[in-house]
Amino acid sequence: MIPEPLARAPARAHDLAGRDILSVSQFDPASLGAIFEITDEMRAIVQRDGGTDLLTRRVLAALFYEPSTRTSASFIAAMQRLGGSVIPITQGVQFSSVSKGESLPDTIRTLEQYADVIVLRHPVVGSAKIAADAAAKPVINAGDGAGEHPTQALLDLYTIRDALGAIDGLHIAMVGDLRFGRTVHSLTKLLAQYDVRLTFVSPEILRLPLNVMNDLRDAGVDVRETYNVADIVGDVDVLYVTRVQKERFTDLQQYEEVKDFYVITPDIMRSARREMILMHPLPRVTEIAESVDADPRAAYFRQARNGMFVRMALLAAVLGKA
Ligand code: ASP
Repeated sequence: MIPEPLARAPARAHDLAGRDILSVSQFDPASLGAIFEITDEMRAIVQRDGGTDLLTRRVLAALFYEPSTRTSASFIAAMQRLGGSVIPITQGVQFSSVSKGESLPDTIRTLEQYADVIVLRHPVVGSAKIAADAAAKPVINAGDGAGEHPTQALLDLYTIRDALGAIDGLHIAMVGDLRFGRTVHSLTKLLAQYDVRLTFVSPEILRLPLNVMNDLRDAGVDVRETYNVADIVGDVDVLYVTRVQKERFTDLQQYEEVKDFYVITPDIMRSARREMILMHPLPRVTEIAESVDADPRAAYFRQARNGMFVRMALLAAVLGKA
């Protein structure tokens, strides 16, 4: 854990050593550029040799209190491809001390006796900060409820940069559950640091939270809202589609009303530009038809792969080996 003022300062890749990764507000375009350079190197290493021994004898504790496939698997794969090992506490949380009523700080303080870095997913907003305050070792936020998912935002931005070059000048539309979708909250905050146009497409009850919208307006970002994908699909460089977050609804009737509000089909994609990408943090439910997957603009599985490279870069950085 790093003292507050330092934790808020933008992180260069080399000075991420020993630090927590809790929010995208820790990063600026220069530090992101540095992290993406390391990510490019990690990708080249994996493609050439499958991995490296940079983090030999280092141990990651992966503590997932909420379901996860991509984030947990990609952190585990990232650590293993760097030569390190993992204590996975994932599907078994209900069998561990956590289910005996142990507090989060106690669990974290115990795990850091065994591990060099802790990755945490938790249903409560702010829990990653609580864990980081308890730990002397770096804590990486892998999603705190409807709050943030910073490593996802980094891999999303990396994917956009990889596919389209520069971020500046792009028109990016976010579609679906903008209210509860933490990946949208984190990615939006990152994009606010660039010269982009943002359009938010959602039904009324799933609109972007007011505080996130106000931050964007204060940052001078050109923002629009609509509920109709057809209004914008022909004009965007990135269409970022999200799942309706069923687990965050208190009223399941409301979920039923909006769950199939958007379905991206080949027909809709016919109106999109040739040089654009269709993204999704996954898992997908019904919001992108499987018949779209063969479209070369469908970037969501590449996006998942990039997650492993970005997480390799971040693990190397926080463990002082970048
Ligand atoms: N996998 C992403 C997350 O954990 C997106 C989602 O679950 O819809 O937030």
